[in-house]
Amino acid sequence: MREINVTQSLDKNKDFLQKLREESGQNPGQCFQCMKCTGGCPFQFTMDYPPSQIMRMLQDGLVDEVLNSFTIWTCATCATCTTRCPRDIDIAKLMDTLRVIAYHKGIYSKAKNMHVFHTTFMNSVKNHGRLYEIGLALGLNLGTGNLMQDTDVGLPMFLKGKISVLPHNIKGLNEVKKLYDYAKKIGE
Ligand code: SF4
Ligand code: SF4
Repeated sequence: MREINVTQSLDKNKDFLQKLREESGQNPGQCFQCMKCTGGCPFQFTMDYPPSQIMRMLQDGLVDEVLNSFTIWTCATCATCTTRCPRDIDIAKLMDTLRVIAYHKGIYSKAKNMHVFHTTFMNSVKNHGRLYEIGLALGLNLGTGNLMQDTDVGLPMFLKGKISVLPHNIKGLNEVKKLYDYAKKIGE
């Protein structure tokens, strides 16, 4: 079993933990490990650490482990944990903030395919104001190197006219682009 020097971990990561508290508006230190978040999390089966354990790791200053976890990428921000927490901690917001920080630091090796999905999806919405399904499928298959993924589903849908070859832009595309520019500006 690995030994952890909590005092050293907290000292080493105190600036990060302060930034996390400020950006998320949440304080993991308030968690008293009742595990109600974990008990209600519908995505726990996909995670390497359940949400209550992520909270405990943050209390112990295990920042690298948290940022490199699969959990922050498979959390679906459903907020079940948030509504169940007796300490009123918005765990979903905390997960969101951790994901954004990991993204900006370029930490997503464990979740490479999810990173490809996020990027391709968001670029599609930015460029068309809506999801361009074939663009998403192509981007995902090329980005992950899994070229034949979901062709058994996509091809019949295409042949039945359920998905279009060309993208359709929404009318207010410029407004969507402005939102992206604004989000980028405040995220810098
Ligand atoms: S917001 Fe994330 S951690 Fe919370 S219950 Fe939903 S999937 Fe689980
Ligand atoms: S529900 Fe709240 S207090 Fe309970 S373990 Fe989860 S974060 Fe901590």
